[in-house]
Amino acid sequence: MGYSLWNDRLVLDEKVIIDSQDRGYQFGDGVYEVIKVYDGEVFTLNEHLDRFYVSAEKIKLAIPYRKDMLMQLLRDLVQKNKLATGHIYLQITRGTSPRQHHFPEKCTPVLIANVKENPRPLANFENGVKATVLEDIRWLRCDIKTLNLLGPVLAKQEAYEKGCYEAILHRDGVVTEGASSNVHAILDGVLYTHPANNMILNGITRNVMLTCAKEMGLLVKEQAFTLEQLKTMTEVIITSTTSEITPVIEIDDYVVGTGKPGEWTRKLQKQFNTKIPVAIYK
Ligand code: PMP
Repeated sequence: MGYSLWNDRLVLDEKVIIDSQDRGYQFGDGVYEVIKVYDGEVFTLNEHLDRFYVSAEKIKLAIPYRKDMLMQLLRDLVQKNKLATGHIYLQITRGTSPRQHHFPEKCTPVLIANVKENPRPLANFENGVKATVLEDIRWLRCDIKTLNLLGPVLAKQEAYEKGCYEAILHRDGVVTEGASSNVHAILDGVLYTHPANNMILNGITRNVMLTCAKEMGLLVKEQAFTLEQLKTMTEVIITSTTSEITPVIEIDDYVVGTGKPGEWTRKLQKQFNTKIPVAIYK
C-alpha cells in the first residue's frame, strides 16, 4: 500500500478518486512526466518539471501550483513511499466537467502522482535490445508530452508481438524517434540525433546524453537521418528516463554494427553513470 499525490495532498492510493467526467479520461486532455529516482534521489527533477509546465502551457492548461511547491511535494512523495530506485509518474488533466470538446468555463485541473519501484534494466544496457521499424502515425505536436498515447501504444504492441523492445518510428523514410524513447545513431565518430522540433519529444535523457557526448569529444549533429542511413550506422542507441542509454543491436532483419553494443555506446553509458547518484552503481 502506497501514497499518491492528489492535487496538493499526499493520500493513501485508494483514497484517490477520479471522476468519470475527467477530461483526461474522456479526451486525454492533459500532460504527464515520468521521473527517475535513484537511491531515493530524484534525478533531473528540475528539467522534468520545466518540461511539465511547458507541455501544459502548450495545451493552454495553467498548472495551479508553483514549481518549487510541486518539487517539494514530489520529494515528500518519494520519502513517504520509501522509494529507493524506480520512478515517479506525474500527470495533470484539465479537470472535470460535463463532456464537451472546447474548454469548460470553470474547470479545476486534477493532478496526481504516484511512484513505482523499478530496478534499472541492467541486462538491456549490457546486451542491447531489438527494435522494429514502423510508420510514425502520431500527430504533429510530438514535442508535447500529452496523455494521448494511442500512436505509441499501437506501435509498442506491434513491437511486443514481434519480440522487440522498441519501435523505431519514421515519417516518409525519415527516422523521428522511438515509441517511448529518442533514437540516436553513430557513424565515424559522429552522433546523429533528430533535432528537437515538433516531430519528437525533447527527451531529458537525450539532453543528458548529448552533454555526455560533448564532454567525451564525440561530435553531435542534431540532424535527422533516413532509414537507409540508419542501416549504415555502426551504433544505434535509444534513450529515455527508464531505458537510460540502451544499445539497439538488431533492427528487424538486420544486425547493427557488430551485433554487440559499440564502443561509443559503452563510453556514453559510463559517462552517464557519473551523473546519477553514486550509491546505485558499485
Ligand atoms: N520520446 C518519446 C515519444 C517518449 O515517450 C519518451 C519517454 N517518455 C522519450 C522520447 C524520452 O524522454 P525522456 O528521456 O525525457 O524520458
